[in-house]
Amino acid sequence: MPDTHQNHIDGSWQHAASGDTLDNRNPASTDDLIGRFPDSSAGDVDEAARSARAAFDDWRATPAPQRGEILRRAGDLLAERKTEIARVMTREMGKPVFETEGDVQEAIDTAYYAASETRRLFGKTVPSELPDKFNMSVRRPVGVCGVITAWNFPVAVPSWKILPALAAGNTVIFKPSEESPHSGELFARVLLDAGIPPGALQLVQGAGAVGQAMTEHPEVDLIAFTGSSETGAQIAAECGERHKQVSLEMGGKNPMIVMEGADLNLALEGVVWGAFGTTGQRCTATSRLICHESVHDELVGRIKEEARELTIGAGLDDDTEMGPLINQQALDKTTRYVEIGQDEGATLALGGEAASGEDLGDGFFFEPTIFTGVDPEMRIAQEEIFGPVLSVFEISSYEEAVRLANDTRYGLSSSIYTNNVQHSFRAMQDLEAGITYVNGPTIGAEAHMPFGGVKATGNGHREGGWTAFDIFTETKTVYVDYSGQLQKAQMDTHE
Ligand code: NDP
Repeated sequence: MPDTHQNHIDGSWQHAASGDTLDNRNPASTDDLIGRFPDSSAGDVDEAARSARAAFDDWRATPAPQRGEILRRAGDLLAERKTEIARVMTREMGKPVFETEGDVQEAIDTAYYAASETRRLFGKTVPSELPDKFNMSVRRPVGVCGVITAWNFPVAVPSWKILPALAAGNTVIFKPSEESPHSGELFARVLLDAGIPPGALQLVQGAGAVGQAMTEHPEVDLIAFTGSSETGAQIAAECGERHKQVSLEMGGKNPMIVMEGADLNLALEGVVWGAFGTTGQRCTATSRLICHESVHDELVGRIKEEARELTIGAGLDDDTEMGPLINQQALDKTTRYVEIGQDEGATLALGGEAASGEDLGDGFFFEPTIFTGVDPEMRIAQEEIFGPVLSVFEISSYEEAVRLANDTRYGLSSSIYTNNVQHSFRAMQDLEAGITYVNGPTIGAEAHMPFGGVKATGNGHREGGWTAFDIFTETKTVYVDYSGQLQKAQMDTHE
């Protein structure tokens, strides 16, 4: 019998009030029923929100460095449990264990970073325009933060939100994706075991309805969301109506440019990892390769050779390099986009089908797929497929490369391979993206650096690094007048 898991609400582990559950299955082998997780509803969210509100005053009054000590312990516990969590994560969402260990490591790095930030949380002091008056800004936590996340980084992405939110003195309601509830639960358990007060972290499992109830709940002050641009837009509209703060991390269609004279060995390794790592299911996946005509044929030929050699299989197998897609819908969607690409006139240069074989059973495996001769107006050039599909474009100048790179509604990551210093420095300015890598693929975020995108990828916020604290704190401006008299700004200084 599979285990039946619970929510963590108001300090206790409990089933959804309805008693309903959702099955969690292994995408590499659908017979493998991992467990049953609460299919929660608005009533569960209501209880969690009230409890998070009640816990807020104590948690925000706890000195920030003491909050940091708990987060440091959480980092230690994550390090102790890294392999255990990674294997659970691989089983429920598919990517190979070396990748899920990297996912947990990102949370460890974020925990230590957030802990260290509790000894800074800087405000500013600035001179007053009046005598005997002191001006400063200080940070205050926002309140109850609703955290809604996707399944492709089931621990790393929640950690980018939850750890800085807690460090800053907020309380949190966490809704993991229904595709990765077990990893979400293990992450929550680490935090609670490290000493986060029970009311400060609520775990409410379930489908999109839970996220929606959080968005609508009056006691939830802020929504921090990672997922598709479509869901993000809905959440932003709901939050706008309710004057609720919202931070959005959404989809991507990330370009890698390879210019003439670039190191092709480096570019080759980068594009194979960027396009087919995590089976292309990364927000920062390299989904467009923009290749200078002088290197196009050689590079594409070599990518095809490398990609067809990738070992596809269950992520729990040691030699697997590319795991399954997350579910049947993802398999259908990727298949559909291959048909669309062919109908649009692109050349299917590699793959294009579900991968099958004795070892692959009924898992959602798909071949590494490459389209060449792609035009910018094609749907495979514009839409996020979220599978192992690379669209290749051929260009003849730096200007054309940048025009093409920017010709998308998304703006998360971007990359340029070049040994030309002018092109590298111009690309840093010219590419419309939150992140630009020079001589690296579009993936590889570090926990202490800002992360996020422009255009339909984001809404102006950056997670990661110091900028995450701008999301999870409010600035309070403070004036202290010790002149003993009424001083009128603007008027007393300009009589
Ligand atoms: P979805 O938008 O489908 O779901 C994201 C989360 O939102 C899930 O927890 C989902 O619940 C929940 N949700 C669904 N509907 C609503 C709603 N109406 N109100 C509130 N919450 C809701 O995205 P996926 O999970 O499929 O993730 C893939 C997407 O995430 C891709 O577009 C990818 O690019 C993006 N992503 C972006 C990242 C970034 O940092 N920019 C990082 C990682 C992924 P449930 O699914 O459980 O029903």
